Amino acid sequence: MWSPELVLATARAIQADVSRLLPAGEARDAERELTALLARADAGEEVVDELLACLRARAGTRDATFSLLRGERVGSYRPLLGAPLGAGGRYACPVSGCEEKGDRLDDSEPEPRCPDHSVRMQRL
Ligand SMILES: [Zn+2]
Repeated sequence: MWSPELVLATARAIQADVSRLLPAGEARDAERELTALLARADAGEEVVDELLACLRARAGTRDATFSLLRGERVGSYRPLLGAPLGAGGRYACPVSGCEEKGDRLDDSEPEPRCPDHSVRMQRL
């Protein structure tokens, strides 16, 4: 699982750049949700699970969240702290020549399946 500090830092980085990560309509919704959740976090509430759910809900923020949590560079972001071992990962279809890729933010998510071949992807 991710540390609360890492999730909060990731959410703040994404909130600052949400208009670049998402189409305008989705960006407004995500901005409103993140602002509300981060305000609750500032007040001392435990909102890590809700933040992760919000960040996962849209493809643009999901991809950026995954990369930031894994310590990868995203646009102008500097990588945050390294990812804990065994948390999520990148996956690829095992069928030769297939380019499909998937990911899991953490082990609570199901392993991805290839949309073309309906097989379970393998962790890279
Ligand atoms: Zn495939």
